[in-house]
Amino acid sequence: MKTVQINKIELPAVGLGTWRLGDLAANHETEVAAIRAGLDQGARVIDTAEMYGEGKAERVVRDAIKGYQRDQLFIIDKVLPTNAGRDQLVKSLDQSLSNVGTDYFDLYLLHWRGTIPLSETVTTMEKMVAQGKIKAWGVSNFDVQDLEELWSLPNGTYCVANQDLYNLDERGIEYDLLPLMRQHQLPLIAYSPLAQGDQLSGKLTTDPLLQELARNHQASVYQIMLAWTLRNDNVLTIPKSSTPEHTLANWQAGEIEFSASELKALAKRFPRPDHKQPLATI
Ligand code: NAP
Repeated sequence: MKTVQINKIELPAVGLGTWRLGDLAANHETEVAAIRAGLDQGARVIDTAEMYGEGKAERVVRDAIKGYQRDQLFIIDKVLPTNAGRDQLVKSLDQSLSNVGTDYFDLYLLHWRGTIPLSETVTTMEKMVAQGKIKAWGVSNFDVQDLEELWSLPNGTYCVANQDLYNLDERGIEYDLLPLMRQHQLPLIAYSPLAQGDQLSGKLTTDPLLQELARNHQASVYQIMLAWTLRNDNVLTIPKSSTPEHTLANWQAGEIEFSASELKALAKRFPRPDHKQPLATI
């Protein structure tokens, strides 16, 4: 399994996304089992947010992690931009900690930029680190200009990760954002790495090259898509799965290595951007 370092902690590069878990009460047990299937294989990272079902996804996480050693887990939560001010962030964080049933998060992200001054969010994040409620903080949906502004602020460079949309059909960040992040050793957390089960793109699962690679690797097209997001270092990928079967498949995709000629063929079929593109988000 590939690994990635975040906040100086070495982690398996396949994590567990949770958006839309908890939406249907009838699926609760299967969703809990889906997360546990990953943890039982050695997955450590769980990515959730106060936004997801307004706490419902966090509560699926709470039930899934019961009985697991907390210090083996790396739990990421996110604060909504409207809640990222000095008082509301603390309230949101306390609520999320209570929903997940833990007394700290390993990483707390600003979900996307809003109107509250970044400096206020950074100051409050640092306060939460000092109080031990979070081990580290980061950002999400940040582009080059956002990071540059962040790094110019007092304590802004304490940001330990940026979470952005990244999959075979959305390579925009490779033009300038990813190189900048590499230069600053800021890891990428790749969200929607399966293009939401190909719903975003609609052309990946039927693509002949991806199907051929899947056959060659005795894998599914989804596993190929996921492995591609991990072909370079410094990336954590966080596919969302609602079933133990999907979670296991995603975990195993962390072992797939592409040959140079396979990577070349993929780059030809899904080209890197040759100019700046607006940051893709969901
Ligand atoms: P995704 O992980 O790209 O795709 C999830 C979809 O793929 C689900 O429909 C899932 O089906 C399916 N799937 C998963 N594993 C599969 C497999 N092995 N074979 C076939 N289908 C499979 O989409 P996402 O949920 O948007 O992104 C992942 C995570 O990133 C989210 O859950 C969330 O934690 C995070 N995220 C963050 C942001 C942000 O703004 N920071 C935005 C979007 C997402 P089942 O559910 O049936 O398993």
